[in-house]
Amino acid sequence: MAIVGRPNVGKSTLFNQIGKKRVSIVEDMPGVTRDRIYLDAEWLNHEFTMIDTGGIQIETDDRMLTAIRHQAQLAIEEADVILFIVDGKTGLTSADEEVGGILRNTRKPVVLTVNKVDSAKAMDEIYEFYNLGLGEPIPISASNALNLGDLLDKVVESL
Ligand code: GDP
Ligand code: MG
Repeated sequence: MAIVGRPNVGKSTLFNQIGKKRVSIVEDMPGVTRDRIYLDAEWLNHEFTMIDTGGIQIETDDRMLTAIRHQAQLAIEEADVILFIVDGKTGLTSADEEVGGILRNTRKPVVLTVNKVDSAKAMDEIYEFYNLGLGEPIPISASNALNLGDLLDKVVESL
């Protein structure tokens, strides 16, 4: 399972929650995840390897888009299932649409998840992400470990 998404959506936080080991660096400041990091995980007797394809994060829009396209391509090549993370607090961005466009054109299963849905009242934030055309968005809160079971059910179903 490869975790894909633009900087700061919570990829490393989710990775660490699922792996229960802090092997990738999480920082407020974008630009800290420098390489792909692999971690073995298990859910309902399914063993799988997670890849954090964070890459080098550069904040000029241009270079961020180049990096994010590359990240999506790596995920498509390497993974059996792609976990595409977007940020419910920020809402849908053009970088999300760019990645969404790339992922819509792969035959690999894509699980769309909206992170930072920290409370039931934040649920309304997920609806605009239906526009990505990648099916039903699954709300989670990576930092509070909310709804990760439903997310992993969906992931292992698509393996
Ligand atoms: P990455 O760049 O995609 O790897 O994102 P990080 O995992 O480094 O997280 C970026 C920021 O978002 C950090 O400040 C995290 O603490 C914060 N964050 C991650 N998950 C959540 C969440 O579920 N809710 C909220 N409110 N913040 C989160
Ligand atoms: Mg990261």
